[in-house]
Amino acid sequence: MNRARVPSGDSSTMGALLPEALLDVITEGVTVFDADGRFTYLNTVAERVLGASREQLLGRRVGEVFPDFHETPLGSAAQRALIDRISITVEAFYAPQDVWLEASMVPHGHHLVVLLRDVTARRLAEVAQEKSASRLSLLQEMTAKLSAAVSTEEVGAVLVRGAKEATGATLGWVGLVEPEGQALRMVASEGVPDELMRQYTRLRLDAQLPLTRAFVSGESEWLGSIADFEARYPHLVEFVRASPSKAGAYVPMRAKDMSLGAITLAFLEPRAFDEADRGFMMALAHQGALAFDRARLFDREQMARAEAESLVMAQVRARRELEAVAWRQRFLSEASTLLAGSLDYTTTMESLARLVVPELADLCAVDMLTEEGRVEHLALAHAVPERLELAREVVRGNPIDLSSEHGAGRVLRTGQPEWYPDVSDAALATLDRPSRVMTMLRELGIRSFICVPLVARGRVLGCLSLLQTVSNRHYAEADLRLAEELAHRAAFNVDNARLYREAQEAIRLRDEFLSIASHELKTPLTSLRLQLSLLERIMSPESLARVSGKLGGAHRQVDRLASLVSTLLDVSRIATRRISLELSEVDLTLAVREALERLREVFVQAGCDVTFQSWEPVVGRWDALRLDQVIVNLLTNAAKYGQGQPITVTVEADQEQARLTVRDEGIGIAAEALPRLFGRFERAVSVRHYGGLGLGLYISRQIIEALGGRVSVDSRPGEGSTFTVELPRGGPRP
Ligand code: ADP
Repeated sequence: MNRARVPSGDSSTMGALLPEALLDVITEGVTVFDADGRFTYLNTVAERVLGASREQLLGRRVGEVFPDFHETPLGSAAQRALIDRISITVEAFYAPQDVWLEASMVPHGHHLVVLLRDVTARRLAEVAQEKSASRLSLLQEMTAKLSAAVSTEEVGAVLVRGAKEATGATLGWVGLVEPEGQALRMVASEGVPDELMRQYTRLRLDAQLPLTRAFVSGESEWLGSIADFEARYPHLVEFVRASPSKAGAYVPMRAKDMSLGAITLAFLEPRAFDEADRGFMMALAHQGALAFDRARLFDREQMARAEAESLVMAQVRARRELEAVAWRQRFLSEASTLLAGSLDYTTTMESLARLVVPELADLCAVDMLTEEGRVEHLALAHAVPERLELAREVVRGNPIDLSSEHGAGRVLRTGQPEWYPDVSDAALATLDRPSRVMTMLRELGIRSFICVPLVARGRVLGCLSLLQTVSNRHYAEADLRLAEELAHRAAFNVDNARLYREAQEAIRLRDEFLSIASHELKTPLTSLRLQLSLLERIMSPESLARVSGKLGGAHRQVDRLASLVSTLLDVSRIATRRISLELSEVDLTLAVREALERLREVFVQAGCDVTFQSWEPVVGRWDALRLDQVIVNLLTNAAKYGQGQPITVTVEADQEQARLTVRDEGIGIAAEALPRLFGRFERAVSVRHYGGLGLGLYISRQIIEALGGRVSVDSRPGEGSTFTVELPRGGPRP
């Protein structure tokens, strides 16, 4: 506003000052008011500027024609010019004509001369320039922010926020086209109401929406009012009316000739998107597109790097896995060797507990179920020897309860493993134990726990408990599997040991029974034999002659019984290693000859001819009675299984060795029976066809081996058998 003092003059009209024709040709509007504010003069330009004719205005007060005039900057400037008698120039918006006016108020006498100039064009140019300067700086700011954003998400967030703030939009939405090109997927948004969010995360390109249409056509959609929506998207009018937004700009994002996506900006007020507005939003979209394009490269690079890393990781994992598998195998094979090493399972379990620590556990306990179903704590090992005593205390204070819902008690009851990867202090606190035990439990610091059953032949024999404490490790599923495998092998071993012990016990009982029974049988037999002899002596010759056949039979039965009893006694002696030898010079040839003599009747009964053509004495240091036992056994077997065919017996010798062979041509022996023929109670024939206990060859072999020799057989079914006995002539080695 310019002010200048003007001299006060007397009242006169403008017409009096200047010729009116002159006033009509100047480019400025000229009006003159009197002291009451009535129009007294207007030139043609003023008529145009004010939008009214002289006829309409002259003589009328300005307040009548233009209500509220006095409240406008023009009105207040006019009053001040009149009162202060100064000339004032103001620039103001003149609403009735929608123009910007520069008005110079010059008081003249009682009149006020007002010069009017339409400055709308200049004014708009200035505003536009101001606006474009601020937009330019906004755009620069956005470009800087966008280039700092690296990932797609970051670019989206920066773009939507910046665009919303720079344009004064209420809602912003940025979407990128999906790789398949079927839809736009939301990357970032601001101001989208929650209830619409789900609908807005993905917009199909065939949806008839301004945004999708803008993307598909590559042309922005500018919808400045409801009317615009009505014209182009009648189906959306209801929706737009219901929403707070009254205008929207939908701009495609293109970079390097590629359509990447599109951006929506919505406004609360109707808006005429002028050139500058459109240019600005398109520039924003373009900057956004460039940033997205860069981000895409970055994302791809990131993905490639992640892929490469995961490949390396996978390799590392695979190698670790392989190492772990190899370790487990080594561990298991070591455990198996250890377990197979002893049949005494207490020792074995102790070494197992020690093996498990520290490789698989910091603390390991083995508990067994006894025959009576009691729990017997068998072994305990701790990785830190100083803590073993504490662990023992805890075991003592924490006896396994078979009715318990958790832990070893449950494992022993159900045969199902228990695995707690993470044992928290809180979980421990739920245990109902005396506070002293609780303190020790806490001190032990249990972090992870596995308990696996030792199961064999469907029976739970015990359990193996593994705990991680000091090392702070946690059990994984692979550890559980390893523990189960270990428990499986341990159970197998325990079961074997038990079976072995049971078998040993059964054998011991049988041998004890054999020994007692044969001794008990011997006494009445001896007295029976004595009484028979006594009878013979006291009977008259006549009566003796009458019963001699019967008596002979009785004697033979007693002899047979005695021989059976002495066989049993021998077996029990061998079992308990009580067979004793009485060594002396014995002639094998003579011994065979005497035995053949004694068994003459047996061969006759069997129908076998016996050939024995050795005459040379073969002397060695042997036990005469035991040697006779062997010879008799081989000869009676030859008669028994010889099928009435000839039998050949030979005795040969060199300096060191003596050899006896007994050959028959009888039933022979099946190949599969040969290896066990010399075992206890072993027979290759059925009891129905051939009686016998299967002990003769067993005892013979024991005697021969006790004398330092060996016995063998060569036989084929139906082709007879040859038994060969070799004896060192010097007797058994000391
Ligand atoms: P036993 O004759 O009382 O059965 P042994 O220990 O003497 O017991 O013999 C064991 C088994 O060896 C016999 O049951 C028989 O099957 C077989 N055997 C022994 N000697 C002969 C033989 N000379 N020929 C065929 N089989 C024989």
